[in-house]
Amino acid sequence: MHVSNYNEIVQLNSDLYVVANLLSGAVDVVPRIVVKLLNDLQDFGDSSSLGKEQLIETLKERGYIFESVEEEELEFARLGKIHANFFSNCVPLSFKLIFSYNCNLRCVYCFQKAVQSQYPQMSKDRLEKAFDAMMYLDNNTDEDRPRPNISVFGGEPLLEENRYLIENTYELANKAGFVPGSILTNGLLLKEFVPLLEEKCVKQIQVGLDGPREVHDQRRPTATGGSSFDRIAEGIDEALDSGISVTARVHVDDQNIDSLPRLASWIKMKGWSAKSTFQAYVAPVDGHKCSLNKPNLVNPMLLAKILDNLNTHKEMSILKLTGWEPLDYFIPMVKSSRPTIPRFVHCDAFTGNTFYFDNSGDVYICIECCGYPTKAVGSFIPGLHFNERYVEWRDRNIAMIPQCSSCSIALICGGGCGFSALERSGTIMQPDCGGARECLKLYMKHEFAE
Ligand code: SF4
Ligand code: SF4
Repeated sequence: MHVSNYNEIVQLNSDLYVVANLLSGAVDVVPRIVVKLLNDLQDFGDSSSLGKEQLIETLKERGYIFESVEEEELEFARLGKIHANFFSNCVPLSFKLIFSYNCNLRCVYCFQKAVQSQYPQMSKDRLEKAFDAMMYLDNNTDEDRPRPNISVFGGEPLLEENRYLIENTYELANKAGFVPGSILTNGLLLKEFVPLLEEKCVKQIQVGLDGPREVHDQRRPTATGGSSFDRIAEGIDEALDSGISVTARVHVDDQNIDSLPRLASWIKMKGWSAKSTFQAYVAPVDGHKCSLNKPNLVNPMLLAKILDNLNTHKEMSILKLTGWEPLDYFIPMVKSSRPTIPRFVHCDAFTGNTFYFDNSGDVYICIECCGYPTKAVGSFIPGLHFNERYVEWRDRNIAMIPQCSSCSIALICGGGCGFSALERSGTIMQPDCGGARECLKLYMKHEFAE
């Protein structure tokens, strides 16, 4: 008998535990006797199972134990194949255009400060070259795959100086049969752009909102130091009224965490949370790069505070935790009746599906590498070609990183952020744990507490 390498156990009280298996996706609240049996099986092998055949059968069905190590390895390989097939056949290619790194806000934690205004805006000719590259990638992928999606990116994409390029982009996309994807915007000029987005059939946008007015404005002022909150709120109203779905991303650190209950109440008062086309989620401002000088435990500490607030401020439940790794994977596992495919890679950068084309002619696959030519994976000028970094990034998965291949939570962590690993250790082939295990335990305890 073999106890799975992917069990995670958290004690709730003197008799109850939460047990999760991150390979099968099973999550159960069990009495102490079950945890004791799992521990005994681990320590003393089959002799512990005498008289407990029924329980053993149930634990096998749930994936907590296997007949042998080999049986678990086969299951791991089976799911790995499903994961690879899913990302190469079922997930569409995702193309993002960066016309420039300019922005009309000056967020205190911006990770792109260093690259703003470094290169001139993308020319029309260069935009067409980017489309040549996208069409080449599209032509060389499985023809049954869903059509690629395309979106504009930044810096801030919704700037007046970009308007004609945005119009051109959707015209070219229409000809190529690409589908408009979600746009990430700071929302400052959203109101002015909603008619164009509506006309071009953009169905989804994501906007940053960091707290109630005075908190948000302190963290996300305009380039001239003014307030951005009211204009962003008007833009969200306009988008929702036009049928565009809005996701508000709330960047959290110790400077704004105490204001989250007030933000949640304000969102409720606006009526946004009652609409099916609106959702809001919290994400730590680690920005990967921004956290490099902070200990990894910053995320669990923030999460603990948010979970405490959830207990005392019920309105906080409209702020989802899906921006918090590894909860973005674990929560659907708990809430959904469908099995979740384990996370063999950490993010889109390692699936070979997402490509950023920037104004300098470089191609990137990781959002935070954008604007740093030494981190580009290729170029689309004069024609599309990839360099050695492309293969290295594409091949990063939990089996390639020794610490991750023996980690019990690897299948919901995926090896952590490669960019952060690169900045910390000089190579992407290192783990980036980022407090993932502590966050998981905190959430398990919170979710299943009586
Ligand atoms: S990065 Fe750390 S927590 Fe994540 S899978 Fe690797 S070893 Fe485990
Ligand atoms: S490697 Fe890290 S920074 Fe890059 S896209 Fe993935 S999670 Fe984001």
